[in-house]
Amino acid sequence: MSYPVAIAVSSVQAALNDSQWDALIIVASSFTAVTELQQEIDAAAAVDHRIGKETVLLLSGKAPGQRLVLSPTGPLDRDYDDVRGFYDAAKQGISQAKAAGAKSPALYVIAPDSDAYQYAAEVAYLGACQALWQPLEGREARGEATIEPVIAIGVIAVSEQQASYMSAVEAGKRVARDLCGTEPERMAPRRFADYCVETFAGTDVQVSVETKVDVLQKEYPLLMAVARCSLQVDRHKPAVIRLEYQGEGQIEHTLLFAGKGLVYDTGGADLKIGGGMAGMSRDKGGAAAVAGFLKTVAVLKPKGLKIIAEIGAVRNSIGADAFVPDEIITSHAGVRVRIGNTDAEGRLVLADLLSHLREDAKTAVNPTLYSIATLTGHAARAVGPYTALVENGAARRIGLSADLAMTGDLWADPSEISRSRREDFSFIKGRTSADDLLSCNNAPSSVTPRGHQFPMAFLVAAAGLDQHALNTEQPLPYCHIDIAGSGVDGGDWQHGKPSAAPVAALAAYYCL
Ligand SMILES: [Zn+2]
Repeated sequence: MSYPVAIAVSSVQAALNDSQWDALIIVASSFTAVTELQQEIDAAAAVDHRIGKETVLLLSGKAPGQRLVLSPTGPLDRDYDDVRGFYDAAKQGISQAKAAGAKSPALYVIAPDSDAYQYAAEVAYLGACQALWQPLEGREARGEATIEPVIAIGVIAVSEQQASYMSAVEAGKRVARDLCGTEPERMAPRRFADYCVETFAGTDVQVSVETKVDVLQKEYPLLMAVARCSLQVDRHKPAVIRLEYQGEGQIEHTLLFAGKGLVYDTGGADLKIGGGMAGMSRDKGGAAAVAGFLKTVAVLKPKGLKIIAEIGAVRNSIGADAFVPDEIITSHAGVRVRIGNTDAEGRLVLADLLSHLREDAKTAVNPTLYSIATLTGHAARAVGPYTALVENGAARRIGLSADLAMTGDLWADPSEISRSRREDFSFIKGRTSADDLLSCNNAPSSVTPRGHQFPMAFLVAAAGLDQHALNTEQPLPYCHIDIAGSGVDGGDWQHGKPSAAPVAALAAYYCL
């Protein structure tokens, strides 16, 4: 698997002099301060008023490959502007360069001198890579070199260290996009596991895959309720994938991630109808992001950090053996869960993974737990194209969500913070003596008040994390990350490119 790595180029002049490059893309809010090319740009602007307003490609005598792409960010100084201006403009610019035949363009970013834009060059590179990525099945069918011809991007005026860092983040984002964006048979549970084994081979990330049905049934009873119907088809059988990383030196921080990997979600017996099923191969975006973040970690090898991740790769099928609402299933943490709706399956998968991670966390150094999932339509309805963060008391005490959101703002990987409330815990309480918890109501989450917050309460209770609340002997910080709004470009779950959220934010928070 190759991808356009970032190569540090010292200056615009160095790019103009180096035949390695075959285009120059300039991303800026205006093009009035590019000394080396100002005459050409001014002459072109005199006859083409699009310059500075939309992305244009100019024939240039000086630019490498004679291709000069000017991609404007638009205004950057209004209250609501952020570094995504660079992300989006770089996407436009690289798309023009690629369409024109460039294979190794150089990228020059002119950013305002302010904290909000301190990573503009990195963000522009990541935006370019987002535009260049093509789906795994497409690459396998047509050849990677054919549909992904750009092999390197020269990033001007960044250090070698910055270039390595941004390349490592893209390596992780690429894994996340591949795992999320692939059709349900190509990325059936065990093939998802195979991809992980392959991508982490020879790295410091250890992969173990559990596929034994009897073991899974004992250790992950809620997950296996979701998977039950899939057992009839060999190639759809579930897998729990465990990824572990231990950095050099004394461990100062342990991260524990649960990833929702619904390789296909039919809804189960509560079948998705009216066209609502298309795109549900992307219901593994949380698991994909977890694996993607670990890929970045595998490249960067941060010291003093330990990570344990569990991914539930499962298919929610419909058939004679499908689980149905009203069933009561005892979770790994010993909590009796009444199934409210079989389409609310992600929280069942995550609860057992989190319960195992809770046990790991008890003896870990300075642990923080996360779940990442395309969990609820409500998250997309409530916060639009942003990631939704819902944290527990211990996480709030250390300002976890606030820090993560602030970091994400600098990396074009933004989040909104949602508060966990008492109503969320009331909502999921068992209604009879037969059950401790109700997994979900029967209306779509998008029309349910607090539809993305209350599932976090369910996860806390079903995974036994309520034994680690602020009022206990060992509070454990936990943050639930819902990427249902942010997981694909443009919110188009059927055709949009996976965005790999929140890989860039996590990488910046823990590895920079
Ligand atoms: Zn579902």
